[in-house]
Amino acid sequence: MNQEASSNSDTSFFGHPAGLTTLFFTEMWERMSYYGMRALLVLYMTASLQEGGLVFTVASAAAIYGLYTGSVYFMGLPGGWLSDRLFGGQKAVFYGGVIIMIGHIVLAIPTDGSFFIGLIFVVLGTGLLKPNIAALVGHLYSEGDARRDAGYAIYYMGINIGSVLGYFVCGWLQLNVGWHYAFGAAAIGMGIGLIQYKMTEPKLKGAGAEPAEPLSPEGRKKTWAAIGIFLAILATITGLAYNGTIVIDPVPVAQYVAIAFTLIFVVYYAYIYFMGNLTSNEKSRLWALLLVCVASACFWSGFEQAGSSMNLFARDYTDRMIGSFEIPTAWFQSANALFIVALTPFFAALWINIGKRWVSPAYGIKCAVGLIVMASGFLVMFFAAQYAASGLKVAPYWLITTYFLHTVGELCLSPVALSAVSRLSPRRFLGQMMGVFTLTYSIGNIISGLLAGNFDPNQVDQMPNLYGQILVFGVGIGAVVLLIALYTRKLENLPADDDKFEEKAA
Ligand code: GLN
Repeated sequence: MNQEASSNSDTSFFGHPAGLTTLFFTEMWERMSYYGMRALLVLYMTASLQEGGLVFTVASAAAIYGLYTGSVYFMGLPGGWLSDRLFGGQKAVFYGGVIIMIGHIVLAIPTDGSFFIGLIFVVLGTGLLKPNIAALVGHLYSEGDARRDAGYAIYYMGINIGSVLGYFVCGWLQLNVGWHYAFGAAAIGMGIGLIQYKMTEPKLKGAGAEPAEPLSPEGRKKTWAAIGIFLAILATITGLAYNGTIVIDPVPVAQYVAIAFTLIFVVYYAYIYFMGNLTSNEKSRLWALLLVCVASACFWSGFEQAGSSMNLFARDYTDRMIGSFEIPTAWFQSANALFIVALTPFFAALWINIGKRWVSPAYGIKCAVGLIVMASGFLVMFFAAQYAASGLKVAPYWLITTYFLHTVGELCLSPVALSAVSRLSPRRFLGQMMGVFTLTYSIGNIISGLLAGNFDPNQVDQMPNLYGQILVFGVGIGAVVLLIALYTRKLENLPADDDKFEEKAA
């Protein structure tokens, strides 16, 4: 059942296995569709009737946005399980992409009623695609391959090229043609990704072609029945909400979801740890990985201010005039993705050099550095907000400097954390572990929303305080993670003894 492509000698894509091109471009197009649509979501919900929008209040739109992004990553958990037990990674990615595309096609239909149905499809499809495509990247490298971190850095660049494309294409179409054309472009992007995926699938050389721990025929039947029941319940609730029989108020729901997701993370992690029949090395490696997950959740809690309070800061307190040209607020959002694309080659080379010099990959240490650098961006915002509080509009380079620091932090942590999950998880649980890991995105996004929700954008004197708190929180957690990482570094280097399982199984 070993799905790992023996790829040590394959260097056809910038020194990496050819399968990385397949995954790079598929994820690039998927992210183009995801971010392209996501950038318009709050605008579409709050736009007036004349503008063709849904006329929701800002509070409802913000809560729906938070629930949507939270659910997209939450569904990675069942998505990862289905890949490990039922579909295998390759099929999970394909089915996921098809469901996402259907979601965007539904959103492109110009009626209000299609909105939530389209979103539900995107949530379900992304749950199947996102963790499993990240896990497939890991399958391209053997256990000790020093190129793994650099491979994830390249893959991460694909994610961000996709998001830049999405912001520009969907943003342009919305302004010049209309909302539903922009959603349609997202569907076309995902479609191109799927065609590319099917045409280049052989490059994966069988990685993830089969489920890692297949279910018994009986188990398969039960799983399909469970999927059917779940979809029937979902359809019923959606139907009842549409005809007004039940009313779902998104604001209180969003508040409880943060707690629920954190609990589910803990329970699932503990379940795999205690019930997964793990060897002692595998258990030790999971402790090292837990540190990476905690760092990831804290990182996104700070970083995701980009879409909320920092977006408002760009709109209201930044002098966006260059001569007679006004920089559109939304452009600041794409600074992060552009910086990632520009800085990735540098980071990929850096990880290769560190890999050659240090035997230890020291994931925890890189994550701690990422957290501290991200937090230092809030030091810049702390001063910028003080200027703003004194009644001045600040120059754009304050925000740009913050986004630069956030991006450097992200490159130290985010692709590295994906690489850590792929190396430190027991291979037969890799899909599920990626799903558990994407839960840290959910938790981070929701906590960030709650933090930003506590402050009133019209009260600029509260801003330095908000940013000061995130700075102290980020540096504090980063320092603790760094200290613990000095210990877990040893655990990261324990050999995986999955082989024993394969021998037993053979
Ligand atoms: N930009 C990254 C991605 O799309 C991380 C997303 C996140 O919210 N954590 O994969």
